Amino acid sequence: MNDETKLIFSTCVSGVITHGILVVTIDNPPVNAASAAMRAGLLAAAQQAGSDASITALVITGAGISADSGLPTYRGVGGLYDNGPTADGVPIEEALSGPMLRARPELTWKYLGEIEQACRGRQPNDGHRILAGWAPAYEQFTVLTQNVDGFHRQAGSADLIEIHGNLHRLHCTFCPYEIEVADYTAFDVPAKGPPACPYCAGLLRPRVVLFGEALPEAEIGRLYAVIEQGVDLVISIGTTSVFPYIAQPVIAAARRGAATAEINPGSSEVSHLVRYRIREGAAAALRQLRELLGDPAFAGRRKALRAG
Ligand SMILES: [Zn+2]
Repeated sequence: MNDETKLIFSTCVSGVITHGILVVTIDNPPVNAASAAMRAGLLAAAQQAGSDASITALVITGAGISADSGLPTYRGVGGLYDNGPTADGVPIEEALSGPMLRARPELTWKYLGEIEQACRGRQPNDGHRILAGWAPAYEQFTVLTQNVDGFHRQAGSADLIEIHGNLHRLHCTFCPYEIEVADYTAFDVPAKGPPACPYCAGLLRPRVVLFGEALPEAEIGRLYAVIEQGVDLVISIGTTSVFPYIAQPVIAAARRGAATAEINPGSSEVSHLVRYRIREGAAAALRQLRELLGDPAFAGRRKALRAG
């Protein structure tokens, strides 16, 4: 216990600093409970950036933020598919793989169709919208997402790295044809089989990273540019951070002493590294933070931070 410091933020919010990590506990979460913890994180970021410097931020999101839109938090492609054998007797990692798309495109498309079905009719939630609303007040506000549902773009996040691609962007595997679709209803998968290019009849596929495929070069290049540049604040939201390129920005920021925070009801690969942990769902935590910091676009953000 002698290396622990106990902190009381409010009647319901307390924290313990142990080995340099602040673990925040919220009992019976009231309004502003998460924001009390997040304010501490943002304050630290503001102090580290210098009072007059603009803050640069990287926000990393996973399936947890889309769970608030009603999407299942499955593992797999874009965090949208469960682990385990499919009805077709092959593991989902094989069904949704690059080699399977080439060998049996109808099988891969069947499961791509199921993932799309899970997204259909769903909308971005407060979490996506709040992040998009804050971006203009930062010198840089990059969102790195593993989700393929396109919700961050739909909500208005412009500085966006969709590291696993986007289910709604399709391209021909033979010619330069590309199309963006709202959903897959026109394809009638699996009844009609995999969709074909209207120009060359080649196989269409979504711009998502299937198992066994490389990450898109442009996106990975942008991500590593952000990591090398070194941002003031890194917030991980709703992801277990099992992929190295998702954990690495948090690890790099923690090593540099930059402010790091995590919003996640459970534990992740980076929970032990971040300075501020908020054990809450994404949308609920971000809504409470908005209460504190204001919306849109953080008007008076610095004033709020200075006022503590
Ligand atoms: Zn084509």
